Order: sequence, then C-alpha cells, then structure tokens
Amino acid sequence: MDILRLAIVGYGKIACDQHHPAIANDPRHRLTAVASRNASVPEVANFESLEALLAQGPEIDAVSLCTPAGVRAAQARLAMAHGKHVMLEKPPGATLAEIETLREEAERHGVTLFASWHSRHAHGVAGAKRWLAERQIRGVEIEWREDVRVWHPGQAWIWQPGGMGVFDPGINALSIATAILPRPFHLVDAQLQVPGNCQTPIAASLDFVDGDDVPIHADFDFRQQGTPPIWEIHVETDAGRLTLEAGGSRLLIDGELQEEGPDAEYAGLYARFAELIAEGRSDVDVSPFRHVADSLMLGYRHTVEDFVE
Ligand code: NAP
Repeated sequence: MDILRLAIVGYGKIACDQHHPAIANDPRHRLTAVASRNASVPEVANFESLEALLAQGPEIDAVSLCTPAGVRAAQARLAMAHGKHVMLEKPPGATLAEIETLREEAERHGVTLFASWHSRHAHGVAGAKRWLAERQIRGVEIEWREDVRVWHPGQAWIWQPGGMGVFDPGINALSIATAILPRPFHLVDAQLQVPGNCQTPIAASLDFVDGDDVPIHADFDFRQQGTPPIWEIHVETDAGRLTLEAGGSRLLIDGELQEEGPDAEYAGLYARFAELIAEGRSDVDVSPFRHVADSLMLGYRHTVEDFVE
C-alpha cells in the first residue's frame, strides 16, 4: 500500500479538531506539511502559503483544503496544476460555476477532486437511506440550530459574501437530506433573517417539495443559546417516523434507537479520499450547495438585530 503524503491548507478549527486526528489515525495517509498563515504543527514542514509549500516544500501527493470557501477555488486550481489530488472541505466553493471549473481542471490534470460532505459519513446516515428507499415519504422536518459563538468563534468570514452564514452548518443538513431522500426536491420558499451589519443570514426558514409535492421544511438558526445544539431530521413515512439526531449519528424509528456510534465522519472522508485516488476518480456532488444557492437567490431577506460577537 502506497502511503499518501498529505498537506493541510488552512490550519483552523476543523483542521485541528478533525482533519489532523483523522489523518493521524489512518495508515493510508501521512501528514507531511501544513500551509497556514498563523498556525504551525510540530513534526511536519510548515509554510505560510500553499505557493511556498509547492515551491520549497517536501514532495506531497494531495492537499486537504480547510480554508474558508471563498479562497479555496484558487488554492485547488494551483494544487491541481501541480498534479496534486484535492480534498475540499464543505461547502465545495463560493459559487456553483467555480466548481465546474475545478471539475474540468481535475480531469485535465488527471488528479482526483473530492468535494467532501462530512455529515454524510455520520453513523446513522447509510441506514436511514436504506430504510427510506423502501418507504413512501409523507413529509420531512429539518431542525438545525446552534450557537454561532460556540461553534464558529472568531470566524468573521462567515458573515461576508461567500461565507454563507447559517447555511455553513445548514448545508450539513442538506447534505444528509440529499443523500437519504430517494427523490430530488426543490425550493419553493425561503425566509432569510440577516443581521443589519452582516451580508449572510443568521437564520433561515426553507420550504421544499419533491416531484409528488411532498413537503420538506427546514429551520436553520445560529441563535441557539445556553442549550446543546439541535441537529435533527424527521421523516414521516407510510411505515413510521424516521429520526436522525445528533447530526446524523443516531438513527431512530418511531422513537426507538436503531443505530448509534462513535464519531467517525472524518475517518470516513479520508477512507473515501484514498479509495477515489486509488481508482483514479473524482467525486463532486453539488446538490446540497445548489439548494443553498437557490435559497440565496429566491429568499426574502428580513433585516434583524446586528450581530456582535
Ligand atoms: P477557521 O477556524 O476560520 O479556519 C480556517 C483557516 O483558514 C483559518 O484558521 C486560517 O488559517 C485560514 N484562512 C482563513 N481565511 C483565509 C484567507 N483569506 N486566505 C487563506 N487562508 C485563510 O474555519 P473552520 O471552522 O475550520 O472552517 C473551515 C471550513 O471547514 C469551512 O468551509 C467550514 O464550513 C468547514 N467546516 C467547519 C466545521 C466547524 O465545526 N468549524 C465543521 C465542518 C466543516 P491561517 O490564518 O493560519 O492561514
């Protein structure tokens, strides 16, 4: 087995909390370098930028881009032009069109591009998809609420154009919904609450339907305070109610626990990345991101209280 020499670009919260431990625990990967302007990691080569790493650094096979979406496309193009495989954190980019450019460049340079959706690797998601495949769906309720100050401390980029605001976590719910629901669905109404001093929503209420007009409602809110986050999806079917709790890690049917397991989302992502590279393929599914773009395109904007961290 060839070990993949990896570099992390943008060593912030998710790189430190999830990517680094997942790489360290996977014998197929070795963290060889880090490119980050303000962070460094012991026992690997550290650089202030991807450019410096590619020019002066040790040989690497792949990069994991953990920077905010707004700067990722340029980094991905640079890495792929140097023949490196690329894993993109979610969301895969700042616009839908730039992802098409990346998809084409990956093909042109003969490298793997992996647009990752970590929540799809949560413990209950595969079981939920299997169970729903044989059921008639009557309605879906999605609730995704968390305290932005706890989960996104100091992340000013989240309020800037391309930062997506509450859709940054909300897209995780959409990545699960697009994976487990057997049919495509589309947005019919979006109400967006946007702080007066921000460019992106702090809360969103979304209504979708599928081809049979089955309603899918989602509430995303960053203003949850003093209580644990709520990351839940409920699906009413002809044969009972399916619930995914805790971001997809607990699967219940009619309130009875079916599956629960330790957090292995990022282990799943790195296993998938290794598989894709070995098979010489890319995996770029934009369906969750398309719903966000539609929400920002169709949504009514309501100005709410300024956000001060
Ligand atoms: P973060 O803590 O702000 O980390 C991102 C890092 O990227 C920063 O620490 C910064 O490192 C670098 N960076 C920021 N702006 C940059 C710029 N303009 N140019 C170059 N580098 C820049 O953010 P995060 O929470 O880790 O999120 C990063 C991505 O992961 C987001 O797309 C997010 O949706 C996704 N994600 C986050 C979570 C979570 O729970 N936080 C969970 C899953 C996925 P330097 O200053 O050292 O360069």
